[in-house]
Amino acid sequence: MKRLLLLPLVLFFLACSNQDSQRQKKIVIGFSQCTTGDDWRMTMHEEMLREMSLYRDYDISLIIKDAQDDNERQIQDIKELVAAGIDLLIVSPNEADPLTPIVEQVYEQGIPVIVIDRKINSEKFTAYVGANNLLTGKEAGRLAAELLNGKGKILEITGLTGSTPAIERSKGFRDILSQYPDITIEQVLEGAWLIEEAQRITDSVFAHPTDIDLVFAHNDPMAYGVYRSASKHGLSPYIIGVDGLNTPRGGLNNILNGYVSGTVLYPTGGDKAIQIAINILSEKPYDRFNYLKTAKIDPTHARTLKLQSDQIQEQQAKIDLQREYMGEMDYLINKQKNFLFLLVLIVLLLILLVGLIIYFLNKKNHINKILDAKNKTIEQQNKKITQQRDEVVRVLKIAEEATEMKLRFFTNISHEFRTSLSLISLPINDLVASEEKVIEKDKLLSIQKNTNRLIRLAEEILDFRKIDTHKYQLNTIHADMVKFMTEVVTAFQPKADRKRIHLHLHVPGSLVADFDPTIMEKVMFNLLSNAIKYTQQEGEIMVNVVLSNSRVTISVEDNGIGIPEHQIPYIFDIFHRAHANLHQQEEEGMGIGLSLTKELVHIHHGMLKVKSQVGQGTTFYFSIPQIQPKAMKAATHGEAGELSESDAQIKADKSKTVLIVEDNEELLEILASTIGQYFEVRTASNGKKALEIIALKQPHLVISDICMPAMDGIELCAEIKKNPLTFQIPVILLTAIDAQQSKINSFNIGADEYLTKPFNKHVLISRAKNLMESREKLKLSLGKYQFLSDSLKDIEQADQEFVQQCISIIHQHISDESFHLDHLADAMSMSRSSLYRKIKKLTDMRGVDFIKKVRLQYAAKLLLNEDIGVNEVAWLCGFSDVKYFSKCFAREFEHNPSKFKNAILSAKDIQDFVS
Ligand code: ADP
Repeated sequence: MKRLLLLPLVLFFLACSNQDSQRQKKIVIGFSQCTTGDDWRMTMHEEMLREMSLYRDYDISLIIKDAQDDNERQIQDIKELVAAGIDLLIVSPNEADPLTPIVEQVYEQGIPVIVIDRKINSEKFTAYVGANNLLTGKEAGRLAAELLNGKGKILEITGLTGSTPAIERSKGFRDILSQYPDITIEQVLEGAWLIEEAQRITDSVFAHPTDIDLVFAHNDPMAYGVYRSASKHGLSPYIIGVDGLNTPRGGLNNILNGYVSGTVLYPTGGDKAIQIAINILSEKPYDRFNYLKTAKIDPTHARTLKLQSDQIQEQQAKIDLQREYMGEMDYLINKQKNFLFLLVLIVLLLILLVGLIIYFLNKKNHINKILDAKNKTIEQQNKKITQQRDEVVRVLKIAEEATEMKLRFFTNISHEFRTSLSLISLPINDLVASEEKVIEKDKLLSIQKNTNRLIRLAEEILDFRKIDTHKYQLNTIHADMVKFMTEVVTAFQPKADRKRIHLHLHVPGSLVADFDPTIMEKVMFNLLSNAIKYTQQEGEIMVNVVLSNSRVTISVEDNGIGIPEHQIPYIFDIFHRAHANLHQQEEEGMGIGLSLTKELVHIHHGMLKVKSQVGQGTTFYFSIPQIQPKAMKAATHGEAGELSESDAQIKADKSKTVLIVEDNEELLEILASTIGQYFEVRTASNGKKALEIIALKQPHLVISDICMPAMDGIELCAEIKKNPLTFQIPVILLTAIDAQQSKINSFNIGADEYLTKPFNKHVLISRAKNLMESREKLKLSLGKYQFLSDSLKDIEQADQEFVQQCISIIHQHISDESFHLDHLADAMSMSRSSLYRKIKKLTDMRGVDFIKKVRLQYAAKLLLNEDIGVNEVAWLCGFSDVKYFSKCFAREFEHNPSKFKNAILSAKDIQDFVS
């Protein structure tokens, strides 16, 4: 673009510079002429103009002033020319003496002066141009001597008496004729350069008889006057003149017409004067005195001269014409130049315009591209946002469905439990109210049946939960499947018998396979229960066990009511019941069994399928690998082995105190006796009591149930973890239902372990031991930086509470940088000095150091337990200057805050502790 803009500018300047070079130098020349009354002077002007036309580099103006033979007038003319601002003066003085002062004056002003033809009486002029009148006179003398052949009488008609040409011409004429004694100048008369005057004075001579042989007139016009006088008087003397011009009255014509016998060439010097003027003004070299050549002309070469002169004049005419044409051409060229200049200017402007248009178009394109890109980005972002929104909607929907399902689940389960519980409570009430001592067995059986049902339901629900959280593990045994199946089917015989259903088992002789007896029992229990439930009295049920392609296929076939075809796709969905309207009070189900069975078969690397026809019967079948993949077996066996090994390793350590919190007395007792075998045990029936015990004697570990009156396990754990004196005590929460676990997780209260009831005693003991050991290691790794909780152990209970209260108040203002000892004293309702003294006594720290220590220990806790940056930790703990915080922290804990966590948590077990 820049180059494009530069091009027109360069062209423009070129055009301008070209225009400049065409300019001519302006020159003004003033010419003061003594007279213009004769041909000779007119010829002089013509020659000047002709010469001027040859200098094309100059724009020459020639101002001619005619003094008309008047000295005063000529002086005035010169003054006017100077006033007009001429660059150079050419002067042909009328008379020498009167004109000399003004010419000197002009010269002294610094204006160059060329004196032409006539002279002045001073050297103060720049150059002189003129013919030599003395030589002219001599030429005339020689011509006269020739014509007179050395003998005769002469009449001399002079120019203006006193004028230098007249004087010098006379002198030269006499110089030559003095050489001829027989030639005499009889008479000298003044003709004043004029025809009429010459004729008049000649008439006065010729009117009387005369023996004049030759008349010498100082110029050709006067010679013609002489001729007219002679012819008037019938005389024919030799007549000679001076000038030799080719004009009608000029010397050449006089000769050719026979009026005179000869003439002397006297050049005007007009052309020479212009040449010298240009040289002077352009500071080129020139001669100061420029004398023009002269020569005599007689009839023998007058014709030739005339012809030459005519030719010159013709040429001159042509030159003039050419000049005229050239002038016109110049005009045209100038016009064209101007036009071209204008054209170039327009083209330049057009180029500039086009350049600007291209530039702005490019810019527009560029901006459009940027806008397009931005639009694209916005579109993509919109798309992303829309996708995210859709995703959120989808997740919300799933969440809604999940919530709905949970609600349904709890409604159904509550219903189930209520039914079973009322079936249990009714006979119990009856039994309690009965005065009979004999126990009514059928009532007890009903109680037993419903209790079993409840237990089974609870088990099924917990199984579901385990499957959902991928915690259900396959524990296979390598055993005879036929034996196992026989036992299971036999167990169902009484139930089948009650409906007079024929229960058959088709099995091979023996079939050793890998199977999880618990899973297989649950699967078969469900399938056989359903088969009996949905088969009418006296129906038939067939259990088949077949081995083919290293897979064991088991099917349970009945000839019961069957499942409507449109229901089949849904029967494995949880809570789905294909025969919900069927009135089978006793056999009412929840729609859980098949869904769970399908999952259990899946865990066993099989797939549960169904074939059914309404009124014909139903067959459920599945196949499992005869030999389970090794990895699975190894994993399950390995884990079990590990557990038993570690069981053996657990050693009693009575220096450790474990606080057990459980509201159920029975369970509390069992837990206390189990854990008491290994550790010192304290017990509490709820969270509140537990906190009191913790305040009195810090235990090494807390094991707490979640659901408790007064204060539940979650609140208790939160209290322990937010108190800097106790936050390091590990907490194990015991939960009966897994749903609680997600609640705990979301609360993120900082519990160290969760165990689901019923828990394995060994797992509980080993986890408790690990946690306490990790805590010990952490303490060791923290080395010398003692936590306040440790330093307070040996002081009185009341003092401990006092310090704890101080810490708690500081915690409430932990992020307030301006919180100082004064504020703490106010909050504790104490004077500043007594608070200071008490803190000093109990902790051996100054008040300000105590507050700082609490802040830093809180920071340490945040750094260890939370995933937040050092800056944020500093601000949260009331340090506005992060550098100062890092310095204090490093002094307290020997590590920079940024490296603290890594330094402390280098050991894996400590990580366990913190996480
Ligand atoms: P339920 O507790 O209701 O038996 P299940 O999940 O075990 O729940 O079974 C789901 C549904 O599938 C049952 O409600 C019943 O409608 C149908 N079903 C299961 N087994 C059979 C069967 N052998 N014959 C007919 N229908 C059956």
